[in-house]
Amino acid sequence: MTFRRRIVVLAAAAVAIAIALAAIITYVIVRQDLRANVDAQLRSSMPELIVTQQSVGVTKQSSATTPGAKAGSTVSVQVPTPAFGAASGVGQAILPSGAIIGPESGSPLPVTAAVKEVKAGKRTAILDDQTVDGVHLRMLTRRGAMGEVMQIAQPLTEADKTLAQLRWLLGAVMLGGVALAGGLGVAVSRVATRPLARLTGAAEQVTATGDLHHRIPEGADDEPGRLAAAFNAMLAALEGSRDAQRQLVADASHELRTPLTAIRANIELLERAPGLPPGERAAMLASARGQLEDLTVLVGDLVDLARPGERPVEPPEDLRLDELVADAVERARRHAPAMTFELKAGPCVVRARRARLARAVGNLLDNAVKWSPPGGAVEVQVQDGEVTVRDHGPGIAQGDLPHVFDRFYRAPSARGLPGSGLGLAIVKHVADAHRGTVSAETAPGGGTLLRLTLP
Ligand code: ATP
Ligand code: MG
Repeated sequence: MTFRRRIVVLAAAAVAIAIALAAIITYVIVRQDLRANVDAQLRSSMPELIVTQQSVGVTKQSSATTPGAKAGSTVSVQVPTPAFGAASGVGQAILPSGAIIGPESGSPLPVTAAVKEVKAGKRTAILDDQTVDGVHLRMLTRRGAMGEVMQIAQPLTEADKTLAQLRWLLGAVMLGGVALAGGLGVAVSRVATRPLARLTGAAEQVTATGDLHHRIPEGADDEPGRLAAAFNAMLAALEGSRDAQRQLVADASHELRTPLTAIRANIELLERAPGLPPGERAAMLASARGQLEDLTVLVGDLVDLARPGERPVEPPEDLRLDELVADAVERARRHAPAMTFELKAGPCVVRARRARLARAVGNLLDNAVKWSPPGGAVEVQVQDGEVTVRDHGPGIAQGDLPHVFDRFYRAPSARGLPGSGLGLAIVKHVADAHRGTVSAETAPGGGTLLRLTLP
């Protein structure tokens, strides 16, 4: 069953149940009320036994003998007429002798087993439904003081007619209500599922065309609106990540082309000139090897940056940041023995991935060495999860500051030096992955100050 059909069916079912309950309650109350009226009328118009010497026009005549009545007297049953002349019903008496004085006209009332029980004195009164000559009656039977049994009955025709009408009416209301609820359910479901249909359409379009640029209108600030906004945000994130990937591939192929071309030129030259002096040959080979090393570093950096998210192989651990930085400084010293490194480190522990963090700190030191004047000093400080590296080089121009963390970005002044512009991008990547920050600033008194902060 589709979602829309479910909504329609649920709405119709809910309304049907509500109306059915209301209808049943209404019907039961009205039925009880109508019958209670009839019962009350029956009670108030219990017939009297009247004994006269002669027959009287309004009474029913009988030749039965009654205790207390003289032979030849007439016994009749009279049903008192209620106020305003409402239907008074028919009366009947069963004398102690067993003789029945029936109603003036029509068939006598039935003398059922229950009526006989009343006559035998086992019960004083009963009120029940009977059918005489096809007429539905309500009959009250009561035992009199002299052992006689008086019966009175009133047709339920009016009440039955009213109830039948009520049944039709309630049935119609129920059908109408269900139809209305169904119709409303269709309308509601159409409105409710419209955003879903839009989303589905958008998702299908994105799947079919691969066009992540597609967006759906967000509309009001309600649930469907928020769903649409979330969907759009997801598309935007996907688009951003795909664009970044494309950018990385484009940049990478561009960056790889330069060293590859240089190596190729070197090899071709070596091929074409086999009789090269050994000194020149060695120099060319050394240059090719250097470029290959650059290439290796570049490929390693690219792989690092392209890796989506964290590397699962290296879980984060609590490590001593000061010791990690001290190791990195030690390594930098070995590579650049002419430089002076000043390390000021207070013990502090951070939660991080060791190899990645070492790589980031290494890149910072690398830059500092690269841009320091020969024999210059590099000051490194570690305190409360923050590493600062300061050099006394030319510093970073204001115009370059916002870009130095971009992949492959190199300030125009740096383009004569080796490197590919990935070092600081990796530092930023590592900082982001650890929910930390990295910033570059111009140090007071010249030089550059890089600040890496971990939470
Ligand atoms: P790579 O690190 O990939 O070998 P790179 O050092 O040129 O190359 P990054 O480390 O990303 O690249 O630095 C980007 C740019 O920021 C540099 O090219 C340079 O212009 C500038 N820069 C970074 N550190 C310094 C610094 N300590 N002093 C002056 N300029 C710097
Ligand atoms: Mg660098």
